[in-house]
Amino acid sequence: MTVSDGGSATAPRVLLGTWPTPLEAAPRLSAHLGLRPGDLWLKRDDLSGLGGGGNKVRKLEFSCGQALNRGATVLVASGGAQSNYARLAAAAGRRLGLKAVLVLRGNGPRGRTGNLSLDGLLGARVVWAGDVDAAGLDLAVAATAEELTEQGERVEVLPFGGSDRNGALGYLEGGRELHDQLPDVEHVVVAGGSGGTMAGLVAALGAERVLGVDVGAVADLPARVAALVGAVSDGRTEASALRLRRDQAGAGYGILTPAASSALEAAAVCEGVILDPVYTAKALAGLAAAVADGDIRPGRRTVFVHTGGLPGLFGHEIAGELAARVAQSPDSRQS
Ligand SMILES: *Cc1c(COP(=O)(O)O)cnc(C)c1O
Repeated sequence: MTVSDGGSATAPRVLLGTWPTPLEAAPRLSAHLGLRPGDLWLKRDDLSGLGGGGNKVRKLEFSCGQALNRGATVLVASGGAQSNYARLAAAAGRRLGLKAVLVLRGNGPRGRTGNLSLDGLLGARVVWAGDVDAAGLDLAVAATAEELTEQGERVEVLPFGGSDRNGALGYLEGGRELHDQLPDVEHVVVAGGSGGTMAGLVAALGAERVLGVDVGAVADLPARVAALVGAVSDGRTEASALRLRRDQAGAGYGILTPAASSALEAAAVCEGVILDPVYTAKALAGLAAAVADGDIRPGRRTVFVHTGGLPGLFGHEIAGELAARVAQSPDSRQS
C-alpha cells in the first residue's frame, strides 16, 4: 500500500511536544479485561510534554504552525469550561509568545478547579459564553475575534476541539509514530470527541485497525471523522466503514457511566495509570465492551491511546467522591 503524506510534509508545523511519546506494556490491565497479558499496550499521549500534556499538543503543532505563518498575534480557542484543548492552546500561546483568549461555555468557575486552575495559572483571558449550544459558542467566538481585530490584533481562530485538517494532520503523524513503535498492532482504541484524533489515526493505520469510542461530545461524529480522513488522505472513507462504538456515551458528554467508573478504577489499580472521567475512561470502557462482545479477541495486539485529560479529573464532581474514600476505613480498598 502506498501511503500519501496527506500534506503533512508541506504543512507548517512548530514543535511543542516531546516525541515519540512512550508505548508501555499493561499486562495486569490486559488480563483484567480478558486479554492475554502481552496483548495490551498504552500509547502515552498524555505524556506529550506541554502544559500538562494530552492529545491536543499534536494538533496544536500544525494549528500554531499555520497561525505563525499568517502572522497571528492572538489565538482564540473555544470549548467547555473544562476544555483540555483550551488549556493547551493557552500553554502553546505562552510557549510561542502569542496571546490566548479562551471562549468557554458557562458563567464562571463556580467552585470548579481542574483545567480552569491551569487556565488561570497560564494567564489566559477567558470570555464566558453562557449556557450556549454549538452555534451560540461560534457566535461568541466571532464576537470576540471581531473585538480583538478592532484592537489591532491579528486573530487566529482555532477550530472546536482542534479538529480541522491541521488537527487530523497531527494524528496522521501520531499514527505513523505508533506504527514505527509497534508495526503489527491490530487494534488501536481511542476516544472520539470532536473526531480529529481518530481521523488522523485512521488515515495513518487504516479504518480496520482503529476503534473509536464516542464520548458524546458531538451529534455527528461518524460524518466528521469520515470528512477529516478525506481531508488528510487521498482515499475516501465512508462513515459506515469506520469502527465506532456509540454505546459508551451514556447520558452525555462529561457524565460518567458505571462502565466508565469501572474503567477509571481498573486502570488505576491494575497499572497505576490515571485516566480522565470524560474521555479516556469511556474509551477504556469501550475497549472492555469490545473484548466482551468478541470484537477484540485474546491474542490480538491492542493499543489503548491515552489521550490525557488528567486536569479535568480535578474539575469533575468525581474528584470529591474519590477524596472521600480515604476518609473511610483505610484498609477496605486494598486488594
Ligand atoms: C479532546 C480529547 C479527546 C478527543 O479528541 P478528538 O480529536 O476531539 O476526538 C480525547 N481525550 C482527551 C483527554 C481530550 O482532551
